[in-house]
Amino acid sequence: MTKNKFQGMQLKAATATVNTRALQNNLQQIKQIAPNSKVLAVVKANGYGHGLLQVAEQLDAANAFGVARIEEALTLRAGGIVKPILLLEGFYCAADLAMAVTNNIHTVVHNIEQLQVLEQSELDMPAQVWMKIDTGMNRLGVRAEDVSEFVARLEACPNVAKPLRFISHFCCADELDNDFTVKQIACFDEVTRDLDGERSLAASAGILSWPDSHYQWVRPGIVLYGVSPIPDSAESLGLQPVMTLSASLIAIKEVKQGESVGYGAQWTAERDTRIAVVAIGYGDGYPRMAPNGTPVLVNGRKVHTVGRVSMDMLTVDLGPDATDKVGDTAILWGEGLPAEEVAEHIGTIAYELVTKLTSRVVMQYV
Ligand SMILES: *Cc1c(COP(=O)(O)O)cnc(C)c1O
Repeated sequence: MTKNKFQGMQLKAATATVNTRALQNNLQQIKQIAPNSKVLAVVKANGYGHGLLQVAEQLDAANAFGVARIEEALTLRAGGIVKPILLLEGFYCAADLAMAVTNNIHTVVHNIEQLQVLEQSELDMPAQVWMKIDTGMNRLGVRAEDVSEFVARLEACPNVAKPLRFISHFCCADELDNDFTVKQIACFDEVTRDLDGERSLAASAGILSWPDSHYQWVRPGIVLYGVSPIPDSAESLGLQPVMTLSASLIAIKEVKQGESVGYGAQWTAERDTRIAVVAIGYGDGYPRMAPNGTPVLVNGRKVHTVGRVSMDMLTVDLGPDATDKVGDTAILWGEGLPAEEVAEHIGTIAYELVTKLTSRVVMQYV
């Protein structure tokens, strides 16, 4: 391999820097907000795009982990994670149930089909079951009126470890004045009141806004990553962004008034200005739908995207007097520019932004 001794230029392609101290800080913050609850840290979808195993390894202070797919749970086990892991949607087939049991992977049971598999399986050990109750979201779970009969069958099933645990999920907990959440808490309370076993209702928004929903287990996902799911800013809640997505400015162009920039000539300069090309695009997971005006941080100041996002690049208007140079760093979200704010401009949620980065993005753990 030839090596070029001249090192005059150091450009950086899309890079997600993961601040592990911020991750640990956010977990501690959650523990202060829900001091009497154990924490099931949700690391599904590759740790919300931050790296499944890398995130779990930093969360020593969690009591258990939550994932959506058995493959995710097995990856954690193969990586040396020994704490309990919960399959939040339960197992998808009998083989997965057996696999879960042998690997100390707990399972949600939310429907009659899963219950039948439990009743008909021959397992080495009883399964650790979290029965899911539908308190109004109408997605997963046993309806309130069917809970007693379902519990009776789980209680009678030798393949199910006792005591059971009970879980439900909010649909509107991010809306602080929506009494749907009050009704869901009341429903959960009522149907589980006389049942023996630990209970879990709150995900991030519930943890932050609905203390009555904390019970024995809270299930933080997005707050761990320093993103606020409610109108209050992450910063005001003591949360620090864990992911900072950045890339270099790889070109700076003088653009004259009346000239357009990018595919489709979708944006036209209203004055002479300087445009920077940033080395990130939808091939990295930066949304192509980001409209003109989406904020980007360059040298500590907020500038805005102009023109269409390309596969490998996007363009921002630096302004006519800008002194930014090729090689300077643009921050797409993270430190100094909350992903929530960027998501708002794009018409999505920060959950989707951080989760959808592609494998091309360089992951850097600090
Ligand atoms: C994803 C998920 C969570 C975490 O949700 P956040 O809003 O990210 O905190 C909690 N519980 C269940 C059942 C989930 O599927």
